[in-house]
Amino acid sequence: MLKILLPLLLVAQLGTAQVAIQDCSIGQSTIQIKTEHFQPVYPGIYFINLHANETTSIEATTAYLATVGGSFLQLVHGQVRYVDFTLNNMAYRIDPNRIFTQQGRKETLKKNSSYNLLAEKETARFADTILAQLKDAKLIVAMHNNTDGDLSITSYTKGKAEAMNAADVYINKEMDADDFVYTTERSIFEHLKKQQINVVLQKAKGFKDDGSLSVYCGTKHIAYINIEAQQGHKEQQLQMLQALTSILEQYKK
Ligand SMILES: [Zn+2]
Repeated sequence: MLKILLPLLLVAQLGTAQVAIQDCSIGQSTIQIKTEHFQPVYPGIYFINLHANETTSIEATTAYLATVGGSFLQLVHGQVRYVDFTLNNMAYRIDPNRIFTQQGRKETLKKNSSYNLLAEKETARFADTILAQLKDAKLIVAMHNNTDGDLSITSYTKGKAEAMNAADVYINKEMDADDFVYTTERSIFEHLKKQQINVVLQKAKGFKDDGSLSVYCGTKHIAYINIEAQQGHKEQQLQMLQALTSILEQYKK
């Protein structure tokens, strides 16, 4: 079909959301960036899902945006976390939320397959294609799911694995520790704390460069919110989204 013309923008009407699909090459492989525009669309505000296996976050975001409007980007390449590609007959694997800095790309290639300069450059090109879609971003809301007992709000407390990235942590012991919000903005942190929602404030500087979108936004001074919920906790993830509605209103102005 027309798909041989890369990159190609296909636009179709689907329910209330307008769907755009961009084919995006990485090495000899192609994955897609799908953008759903729910009416009304707010320039500069983007919801994004980078891990295609975290399906609860996709369901929660779609349900939420159908009621309030907004743009939602997803990577489409099967329901798996990692992106696989081939380059010069070599197979590579990357975590798509570890590709937004050079250091992150190097580490994710090493950890999941192998590193060389060409593979890193190709990964950088892929990251730039995603970032090009977010170029006027004022606020990015990243949607993620975790599994029970893996990453949680307690990972950010003193002595734990993620403690070095946190400037402040609020924990509501009544909430599941796997359901929490991570943000770069003090005002968003305070807003959620007031509503007794588990929340972590990322340090303004000195956070670990793991190449994630939060690090990129922290460096570029783009407001960033990551809504984490345990896979299957759609209601809880929706509640965290709804708790942020008045914050979103401020960024819509
Ligand atoms: Zn994720």
